[in-house]
Amino acid sequence: MKTPVTVLGLGAMGTALAQAFLAAGHPTTVWNRTPGRSPELEGAVRAATAAEAVAASPLVVVCLLVDTTVRDTLDGIDLTGKVVANLTNSTPDQARALSDEFVARGASYLDGGIMAVPAMIGGPAAFIFYSGDSAAYERHQADLAPLARPVYVGKDAGLAALYDIALLSGMYGMFAGAQHALALMQSEEIPAVEFAEQFLIPWLTAMLGTVSGMAADLDNPPAPGTAGSNLAMQAAAFDNLIDTAVAQGVDPSLLVPVGDVLNKAVAAGHGDEDLAAMIRVLKTNA
Ligand code: NDP
Repeated sequence: MKTPVTVLGLGAMGTALAQAFLAAGHPTTVWNRTPGRSPELEGAVRAATAAEAVAASPLVVVCLLVDTTVRDTLDGIDLTGKVVANLTNSTPDQARALSDEFVARGASYLDGGIMAVPAMIGGPAAFIFYSGDSAAYERHQADLAPLARPVYVGKDAGLAALYDIALLSGMYGMFAGAQHALALMQSEEIPAVEFAEQFLIPWLTAMLGTVSGMAADLDNPPAPGTAGSNLAMQAAAFDNLIDTAVAQGVDPSLLVPVGDVLNKAVAAGHGDEDLAAMIRVLKTNA
């Protein structure tokens, strides 16, 4: 028999996770604060309380709104001998603190960062970062695989959240650029879909290819004066981005902080370097 699993939280994501467990043949117990959610989960056992749900399975997958929701929901519940895989979005410090607390209460703790939207769960593009108890991960890796490709990133319970939040931060920054570009086109009523498909997406895709060079410059700083697009030049041109936005009636708020960091890097003496120098001046604990 496949490992019995419990899913706490039947929001959009928890429901998708429970569906994937059921499809893979795991006896699945579910609990949600508001009863009656997700009637489509045929075959799931619906626990009346979170405590009953936790008691039902050795592997407890938690997918609630935020860290405090997890703490409140599991407060006072016996976790002895359970593997808790908390897939709720968290900060690294929240994950570490929760790990310490749950381990003290007799559980093994895995933290997870889901890199997918609910519709992608169980599909080929989805993956989930895990960190924390390596023995628990090895024991349950195959059980967790039907949700999304599992990627273990280390024993420090905070690491999955760090990887997750790094990718989300990259995503929001990328979306911010795309949103600003589309707003500029809207200012002249240029059709959005055509612009996006013909120009914006191919351009951003080509530019994404340069990120590996930026990363390589971080690992091995290049010789001075070899930058193809030096920061002093980029900072000078960046004013045109802000001025154009203002002139077109577009709020430059999404761009202004990028210009600030660019100028900070130039002021710190990195004007003859390439974009990796901006990453160096982002460090606040140097
Ligand atoms: P939803 O808003 O759809 O669901 C939220 C869930 O949290 C519900 O089960 C809700 O229960 C429960 N909840 C909220 N507040 C409380 C509370 N005070 N006590 C008990 N339960 C509570 O969110 P998702 O399912 O989409 O997201 C769940 C987690 O997954 C989040 O941490 C999210 O960041 C993460 N995630 C989501 C992704 C997505 O695209 N959806 C992608 C990657 C990660 P009730 O039904 O009773 O309100």
